[in-house]
Amino acid sequence: MEPVLNYINGSFVPARSGRTLDNINPATGEHITSIPRSDIHDVNDAVAAANAARAKWASTSIEERATWLQQIAKALESKAETVASLESMDTGKPIGLARRVDAARSVSNFRFFSDHSTELEDQTFVSNNAVNHVQRSPVGCVGLITPWNLPLYLLSWKVAPALLMGNTIVAKPSELTPLTANLLAEVFDELGLPPGVFNLVHGLGPEVGQPMVEHSEVQAVSFTGGTATGKVVAATAAPMFKKLSLELGGKNATIVLEDAPLHSIVDDLVRASFTNAGQVCLCGSRILVHESIKTEFTEAFVRGVEALNVGPPHLEETDMGSLISLDHLSKVESYIRLGVEEGGTVLTGGLRSNAPVDGTPANGAFLRPTVIDGLSTNARCATEEIFGPVVTLHTFSSDDEAIAMANSTEYGLAGSIWTADVERGKRMAEQVESGIVWINTWLNRDLRTPFGGMKQSGVGREGGDWSLNFFSELTNICVQQP
Ligand code: NAP
Repeated sequence: MEPVLNYINGSFVPARSGRTLDNINPATGEHITSIPRSDIHDVNDAVAAANAARAKWASTSIEERATWLQQIAKALESKAETVASLESMDTGKPIGLARRVDAARSVSNFRFFSDHSTELEDQTFVSNNAVNHVQRSPVGCVGLITPWNLPLYLLSWKVAPALLMGNTIVAKPSELTPLTANLLAEVFDELGLPPGVFNLVHGLGPEVGQPMVEHSEVQAVSFTGGTATGKVVAATAAPMFKKLSLELGGKNATIVLEDAPLHSIVDDLVRASFTNAGQVCLCGSRILVHESIKTEFTEAFVRGVEALNVGPPHLEETDMGSLISLDHLSKVESYIRLGVEEGGTVLTGGLRSNAPVDGTPANGAFLRPTVIDGLSTNARCATEEIFGPVVTLHTFSSDDEAIAMANSTEYGLAGSIWTADVERGKRMAEQVESGIVWINTWLNRDLRTPFGGMKQSGVGREGGDWSLNFFSELTNICVQQP
C-alpha cells in the first residue's frame, strides 16, 4: 500500500521532518504501510490552513454545508466495502462487524447531521418589552482527536457536525488506525471540498495531539479516548478557556434481574460483553446477576461465550478478531493475571498460551473471550477499565445492592438492565450514574439523543443538538424598539 500522507490545505504531504511510523496489521503482525510521524511544525501548518479557510467556509449557508454532508455520505457509501476492509485490516476486527458498524455508521453520521440541520429553529424570547434573538456562529478552527477502536465511525461523528456548523478542522486519528481517516481525506479531495476546511495530521499523541490542544488558534477540542489522556487534554485546554468535549473510558455494568428471560437474552449479553473484542467504550465489562439465577446464568453465558468464533478478521464467519496490538494484548493479559491474584477464577478464556485459536496467524494479537468469577466488586480487575475481551461476574440480592454495585466505580458511561418488568428496570435506571442506560437492549442508538459520560467518563454530550451546540458559539441579541 502507498505510504499514507498528511492532508493539509488541500494537498497530501509528508511530515516536514520526513519521519514516518509503521502501520501494522494487528491480526498478522504484518507491515501495512507507513504514516507521517508529524510534529508541531505540521500541526502549525494545518492550523494556519484551517484558519485561512475559516471566513469563506463560515460564510456559506447551512443548507450548502448540509448538501456537502450528503455528498460525503454518498461518496463514503460507494466506498463502503473499501472502508470495511481497511478498518478490518487496521484494527483486527471482523470484516462483518466493520461492514455493519464502521462503514454503515460513518455514512449515517454524515446523513444524520445533514438531515438534522433542517430541524434547527431560530430561537426568540420576548420579555421586558424586548425580543431576544439567539444567534449561532461557528466556533472557528476545531481540533478533533479520536481513538483506534471505531476509527472512522468516531471521526465522522465529530467531523459531520463540525463542518455543518461552519467550522474548519484539524483532525488527529490514532496512529494505530490511520487508514480510514486517510480515505476520508481522499473523499474530500475528490469532492473538491475547499482547501483548508479539513486538515488531517498523523502521528503520536504527545507529538501531534498535544500541540493541537496547546495551539492558541484552535478554539475548541473534541476528544474521544482514555480517561488518563483526557485529564492531560483537560489540563492543557482548560486554562486557555477552550471549548472542550471529553468522551472518555467506562467500566459499564450489565444488571441481570431474576425475572429476565435468560435463554432469549444470553446472545445479547454475549454481544454486549464482547463486540469488537470488548474494545467498545459501551461494552458491559461487569455483569451483576441476581443471586437466585447465578448458576443457571453462568452456565448459559459461558456456553454462549465459548460458541464465539475467534479467528482471522477477513473471514465472514469470524465473530471476534484480534485485539488492536500485541502491547494491548499484554495489558489485557496482565489484568487477567491480576484478577487471579485478587482471588478470581477464570471460567473460560484466559491467557494467550491457554487459548488455542484455530487458524489464527501466529503473530496476531488474539485472545479468547474471558470470564472471571469470584472477584469482589472493588477488586482492581472489576473497577479499572481493561478495554478488552474480559468480563467479571458478581451477584446481588436486592435492587438497591445492584444499583450500589453499578455505581461503585469512578466511571459513569453506560449500562444495561435486563428484566421482564420494564417499570422496575426504569426505576433502577434512574438511579444508575451513567450517561446512558439500556433496558433489555444494548447499543441501540438514536442519534438525536445525548451521548456522553458522568464522573470520570467525560464532560459534555454529543449527539443531535448537543453536537451542534458544541460546534457553535451561541450568542444573544436583545432588541428593544426605540
Ligand atoms: P488514548 O490513548 O487516550 O488516545 C486517544 C487519542 O488521543 C489518540 O489519537 C491518541 O494518540 C491521542 N493522544 C494521546 N496523548 C495525547 C495528548 N497528550 N494530547 C492530545 N491527544 C493525545 O485512547 P485509545 O487507547 O486510543 O482509545 C481507547 C480509550 O478510548 C478507552 O479508554 C475507551 O473507553 C475510550 N473511548 C471512549 C469513547 C466514548 O465515547 N466515551 C469511545 C471510544 C473509546 P495516540 O494514539 O498516538 O496515542
